[in-house]
Amino acid sequence: MNVKLEIDSSSGFCPGVVKAVRQAEKYLALHNTLYSLGPIVHNSLEIDRLKSKGLRIVDIDSMDSISGSVLLIRAHGEPPSTYAKADAMGIALIDCTCPVVLRLQQEVRKAFLRMKSVGGTVVIFGKHGHAEVNGLVGQTEGCAVVIGSTDDVFEVDFSMPIELFSQTTQDPLEYETIVEIMRSKGKDVTVHNTICAQVSTRHESLVNFARSHSMILFISGRESSNGKVLFDLCKSVNPRSWWIEEASQVDPAWISDGDSIGICGATSTPAWQLEEAMECLSSILK
Ligand code: SF4
Repeated sequence: MNVKLEIDSSSGFCPGVVKAVRQAEKYLALHNTLYSLGPIVHNSLEIDRLKSKGLRIVDIDSMDSISGSVLLIRAHGEPPSTYAKADAMGIALIDCTCPVVLRLQQEVRKAFLRMKSVGGTVVIFGKHGHAEVNGLVGQTEGCAVVIGSTDDVFEVDFSMPIELFSQTTQDPLEYETIVEIMRSKGKDVTVHNTICAQVSTRHESLVNFARSHSMILFISGRESSNGKVLFDLCKSVNPRSWWIEEASQVDPAWISDGDSIGICGATSTPAWQLEEAMECLSSILK
């Protein structure tokens, strides 16, 4: 078959994830075990690779059993209560909170103090229960209202001032829609543009990439919220988009003679997985 293959040069880990993975590898090169509070990245194959080097994943409740150990905080960040708990348990932290998330946490904290003084509300557009969102809500002592979609807007009290933020990995177009609705309902709505530039520029380039190929192979863990957003984006401009978690899931029946196949992924997809998919496709096409 005459088929062209191309890897999207803008896909792969974002700088925040690269830093966290590097820090873990650096520590594990010298020590047998490193604990991580949740998976460093929403990608099971990459997690398996790091586990084989000694990474152990714990959750907030099992922190009690690792007192005196070293714990990595992911790029998503954590609420202040996690730092207090680590301190109380004698747990040393390798804090890999992404600088972009850290700035956002600080902005949310300042907004919370402003809103508290006037009876207003901090609203966060993000995925309920996501680690980054939990970290942001923690800056507001649990008072922020989280909206996951336009359907949740009714939960907001528009009679008082509002400061609106977005989780860094949300869809920029959906955030625009949320902003429009919030502004139409409330008189005093301050909007903060907090979607990570890595994500918003990737949206633009991914649309162009997906349009320029006859078929898209999108690789990402199913639990990645950024993966879902980016795959939906590919599918919206290229109906022949397939979402796989690993190269072995490629179905040769998807491919037609003359295809131009674009291989891309989420901010949690390592470059080695994109290359592996390229090799898998090449061997199918031999
Ligand atoms: S998407 Fe942006 S904010 Fe989130 S971890 Fe990556 S670089 Fe940091």
